[in-house]
Amino acid sequence: MSDIIRLLPDHVANQIAAGEVVQRPASVVKELLENAIDAGATQISLIIKDAGKTLVQVIDDGKGMSMTDARMAFERHATSKITNANDLFDLHTKGFRGEALASVAAIAHVSLKTKREEDDLGTFLEIEGSKVVNQEPVVTTKGTMISVRNLFYNVPARRKFLKSDNVELRNITDEFHRVAMAHPQVGLKFSSNDTELFNLPISNYRQRIVNIMGAKTNEKLVPVEEETELVKISGFVGKPEFARKTKGLQYFFVNDRFIKHNYLHHAVTSAFEGLLKEKNNPTYFLFLDVPKDSVDINIHPTKTEVKFDDEHSLYAIVRASVKHALGQFSINAIDFDKEPQYEVPYEYTKKNTSSPKIEVNPDFNPFSNTGSFSTNKSTPSYSKPAPQAWESLYAGLDEASTLVDETEEVSMTTSMFEDEKVTRNIFQLQRKFIISTLKSGMLVIHQNRAHERVLYEQLLKHITVQRGTSQQLLFPLRLNLPVDEVSILTQLQDQLEQTGFIFKTLANNVVEIVGLPIQLKEKHVPEVLETIIRDSELDLPKESFSQSDRLAATMARGMAIRSGESMSQEAMENLVDELFACKESELTAQGKKVFINITGESLNLKFN
Ligand code: ADP
Ligand code: MG
Repeated sequence: MSDIIRLLPDHVANQIAAGEVVQRPASVVKELLENAIDAGATQISLIIKDAGKTLVQVIDDGKGMSMTDARMAFERHATSKITNANDLFDLHTKGFRGEALASVAAIAHVSLKTKREEDDLGTFLEIEGSKVVNQEPVVTTKGTMISVRNLFYNVPARRKFLKSDNVELRNITDEFHRVAMAHPQVGLKFSSNDTELFNLPISNYRQRIVNIMGAKTNEKLVPVEEETELVKISGFVGKPEFARKTKGLQYFFVNDRFIKHNYLHHAVTSAFEGLLKEKNNPTYFLFLDVPKDSVDINIHPTKTEVKFDDEHSLYAIVRASVKHALGQFSINAIDFDKEPQYEVPYEYTKKNTSSPKIEVNPDFNPFSNTGSFSTNKSTPSYSKPAPQAWESLYAGLDEASTLVDETEEVSMTTSMFEDEKVTRNIFQLQRKFIISTLKSGMLVIHQNRAHERVLYEQLLKHITVQRGTSQQLLFPLRLNLPVDEVSILTQLQDQLEQTGFIFKTLANNVVEIVGLPIQLKEKHVPEVLETIIRDSELDLPKESFSQSDRLAATMARGMAIRSGESMSQEAMENLVDELFACKESELTAQGKKVFINITGESLNLKFN
């Protein structure tokens, strides 16, 4: 038998490749708009006929193409944007595959008019099914106009699969929105069947969103701002009370490119936890700027999915900054039916630096062995909320609690405890867990994590809003440290003092500690300082929320009561009370589970 393998003719190969890039008119819109942006346009018009089935036209005032480039642009893998694979990690443009125009030209009638600033005459080109049918010089202005007519004219199967005009127009509008939102510095117009749908002037992000989504949107937006080494986040989230059941407006942009990312979506949704009615969707428009080499946008042909190097940290930062934004807004603007004292102060206030006041705790005895967990009862700055107050906060939740099973975490309520007034049935297990009985079952609390959570919220509050109490040391502690570590501590001095950590540098390698946060045991000082120094090497921008957040988390970790330490009855009761007065009691700052709830029902099942 003769050999049977043959190379496909170019136009067939192009048609097949086109299927990857162009699924529907909206794909053409996306590619053409992105090319115009890449060309540095400041004004772009999109003109559509019959939902793009008859015509998709994009006109820009960008840099245009030379005659040769105009022809080259339609070759497969022809691009001016990268020259080798390394460039993929330093992309400044939307396109880079050099496939879009070749693909479009394989399955439509395409005409191009383009001129560069420096040329007298422009170029006019007509291409049908990958073949150039006409090329001539033309008088035109700087920029490019591409018209794509009769999409899929030579691929009937694809044309048949197009949806109704309404659906295809919706898809086009979505693409237009995505490009427009990411580029407020570009003026954009969009008309469909001779009706102008959008005329967006050059503006800023907020104004652009409002121009697209309607004037009413403005009052619904809460700004989100955060800058860390890993990512700069800006944008807006919708106020919770405007969330709707219909799929919300949810936009992520990474380096000005619209992306979909389930994991980050989850980060935002979880930041809204407890603020939305069931099944309501949060709205968000978040712009993430990440270093170009920390993101791989190359994993999907149509490039809406991306992969980040450090998704876990990104998740934490996105979640924290959205939470922060919502917290700030809730404090400034409305009352979420909660007592303000229970809000973790996520707002970051720039305080006037005052010289630290050292309050001496008269009860403090450095010689007593505080083997058991010392409570904050004597801390004047931290008022322990009265149980009755937060009882009412959670009132009505206990019917719901009987419906959940062991694995599900629920918001806890005092009224869930077996008998609030009588001494609670509470005991320590293996010097690691606190067991407390509930009406509906029992609670197993991880003592170290619970304390860490409590301390974290207190410390964050101290760093950001209200100075914490310092306990003065009778015998100041002198530490010899490497010079660079001393300088790190000096940089953090303001924030550390807020927590009650008072120190002086005596020489460039000696630090003298004169006061400690009331919750910190002296023996843990070296360890806590070491963690702080190690963490600061992550180099978060000074004065940012993340830095305070991180410092609080680090200190909390270092200060929390350890597994293996025994706790008195009173200490356990206090810890449980404080834990459930926290804004978030289920997870540590690092996202680890703090307690589990075992219901009577699930116990019953085990005895079946
Ligand atoms: P890519 O955008 O991936 O490079 P395309 O097939 O979309 O591939 O475009 C091929 C090339 O044609 C681009 O690299 C660019 O040089 C040129 N080009 C396309 N559209 C325009 C435009 N509107 N203005 C100027 N140059 C353009
Ligand atoms: Mg392109």
